[in-house]
Amino acid sequence: MLQVPYAADEYVRSPGRRYRRGTQGYTVQRALSVGMAVHPRAWDVTFPDAFMTKCTSCKRCTEECPFGAIDEDEKGTPFYKIGRCRRCGTCMGACPERIVSFKDFHVDMIGSMLKGVSVPDDEDQPRIIVLCCENDAYPAIDTVALQHMKIDPAVRFIQLRCLGSVNLVWIADAFSRGIDGIMMLGCKYGDNYQCHMVKGSELANYRLRRSRDTRQAAARSRKGRVGTDCYRRLRQFTENYY
Ligand code: SF4
Ligand code: SF4
Repeated sequence: MLQVPYAADEYVRSPGRRYRRGTQGYTVQRALSVGMAVHPRAWDVTFPDAFMTKCTSCKRCTEECPFGAIDEDEKGTPFYKIGRCRRCGTCMGACPERIVSFKDFHVDMIGSMLKGVSVPDDEDQPRIIVLCCENDAYPAIDTVALQHMKIDPAVRFIQLRCLGSVNLVWIADAFSRGIDGIMMLGCKYGDNYQCHMVKGSELANYRLRRSRDTRQAAARSRKGRVGTDCYRRLRQFTENYY
């Protein structure tokens, strides 16, 4: 039987789905007045929270936020304009100091999920981890299951808010533990982009390319793009990984 301790848990307790059910009866104004996101993470009341005493003012979060929700004061220290924030987590993935977190989503939490994925003792049995966004990639995986299609049992899935939230430290740590491959699966980007967070998927691709230049290990990682209706391609991605 497929052992997916954390991914299966996330499947049941996906924050996105729970929140979406709860938006009934709320107007946009009412939701905003009490600090809730309205789209695409409707009902989400968590905010990015940075431990600013460790901030180096590197500006990575300011430059990468897809919604212009981070500004800088006169000293160059970033501050959040929460009314513009869509809770995508891109600032969390961008921060080299790993000081940005949400109450229910942070670097250590996903790091622990990655550590929870078993590495087979048998060297002939590979282990691939797919980091997938909750917007288009995860529904595509749902559809694979609904269609009774099989996915290689070497693959484990971990759901993220957006691929923009991927912190490269996760990839380095996973490879150092003996994971054979990492795939990042997110919405389509480019001219006809479908990324729910505008450029999170594209940013993940950019970071991955950059990490390839600097880390030999990261050459084993891949990036895929899917729409919710591309579930057949999803299966091909995992089958063609190695
Ligand atoms: S969570 Fe996303 S939208 Fe909000 S500040 Fe961070 S990068 Fe910007
Ligand atoms: S990415 Fe992190 S260290 Fe850099 S400015 Fe933003 S919060 Fe500070």
